[in-house]
Amino acid sequence: MKVGITGGIGSGKTTVCKIFETLGIPVYYADTRAKWLMAHDPVLVSGIRALLGAQAYFADGSLNRAYIAQAVFGDDEKLGKLNRLVHPAVAEDGERWHEARKGAPYTIREAALLFESGNYRAMDKMITVFAPEELRIQRVVARDQSSPEAVKARMDKQMPEEEKIRRSDYVIHNDGSQPLIRQVLAIHRELLSLSQKT
Ligand code: ATP
Repeated sequence: MKVGITGGIGSGKTTVCKIFETLGIPVYYADTRAKWLMAHDPVLVSGIRALLGAQAYFADGSLNRAYIAQAVFGDDEKLGKLNRLVHPAVAEDGERWHEARKGAPYTIREAALLFESGNYRAMDKMITVFAPEELRIQRVVARDQSSPEAVKARMDKQMPEEEKIRRSDYVIHNDGSQPLIRQVLAIHRELLSLSQKT
């Protein structure tokens, strides 16, 4: 069984996934893996070069993230094209990763844009991690030393939290109102029993 975990920036997706990992559940961190694939998957690399030019890479082959960010900033068409190259490559890579973990009762894919990318369609169950905007801004500012305005600008590009919750099977509240571990354990138990039935 494949389970997707999403949530807005700073909602606590990674924190929640670390708890699932302590329970022995393998987690695919799609956003981190996407950055790796953008530098190492030959088909993706040539697609990105064709779209954004050779400057998208440094001489040593590593990704010039600042150039890419600036090249797609404010250009929705180019950003859409870049996403249409990257998202399918990550979906395929994630599929291979999942196939190699057949021994696990279920696996988790963590991504900020699982709904927006359409990759949620490959998941059997979806979990949204929720925290209120103010708290998410505080947490990300503390984590990344970024400005509240920069965090807010990234949030404004993401699907509203209510919409993600509406489309999910489970919600984890990471606003301090309920212990995270208890919520993760309850979902884990349910997923284990579902995986035994499939
Ligand atoms: P991003 O979308 O930016 O990758 P994320 O959803 O993965 O973020 P995390 O990195 O897990 O979010 O959490 C954001 C920050 O808030 C981290 O520094 C994390 O340690 C902190 N944090 C998350 N949950 C809690 C919590 N319940 N109590 C205190 N700090 C928390």
